[in-house]
Amino acid sequence: MKVLLVEDDKALAEGLQRALADAGVLVEVAGEGKQADFLLFTEQYSVVILDLGLPDGEGAQWLATWRNRGMELPVLILTARERWSDKAAGFSAGADDYVTKPFETAEILFRLRALVRRSHGHAHPLIAVGDIRLDTHTGQVTRAGMPVSLTAQELRVLSHLMHASPRPVSRTELSEYVYDRDQEPDSNVIDVQISRLRRKLGGSWIETLRGQGYRMLEPSADPGNRGAGEVD
Ligand code: CA
Repeated sequence: MKVLLVEDDKALAEGLQRALADAGVLVEVAGEGKQADFLLFTEQYSVVILDLGLPDGEGAQWLATWRNRGMELPVLILTARERWSDKAAGFSAGADDYVTKPFETAEILFRLRALVRRSHGHAHPLIAVGDIRLDTHTGQVTRAGMPVSLTAQELRVLSHLMHASPRPVSRTELSEYVYDRDQEPDSNVIDVQISRLRRKLGGSWIETLRGQGYRMLEPSADPGNRGAGEVD
């Protein structure tokens, strides 16, 4: 999961960034609406955390603009404003959730995971592809009930593939969701992560689709049902 945190309070932003990083969540910070505006339409994110009082305008107004331009990411408003009218304005502008400061980081994490899961059409906190299960809250992965041990980066790659399944995911998309924009690797690094995942999962769970990227699917007994261009 990659979060865009739009927050002008530097200490709060850094604290939240660190706390979420400990849970394996990548966070990029924008200190004002204009910067967020640029990042949202040039980078890939899973979810947005938005402060209401920004130095260059109201968060709700920025959000309304982004929604009008077709920005579909889930947005959680994080603000000190507790009034009903502020909440109404936030949701009317297109917010999906609203949390007031002070807050528990764990609660933010639960809400972010639920928002991201929902945005991919998953209601259940366990996402399954065949007998591979991902617990979206704990980040635990099992295959046929047995735990699969993954590095933080492998988990981010697998989690994105599983959220997207059966949609194929391009290398570019994968690298943007898995790495900070300052350290996006070349596609070889993604290939290496994929081959490690294939080794750890066993079987051909991750297809390579020529020109499209990767797709996570339950291995089919009938090779005719598999996508073209599979390389294993
Ligand atoms: Ca603020």
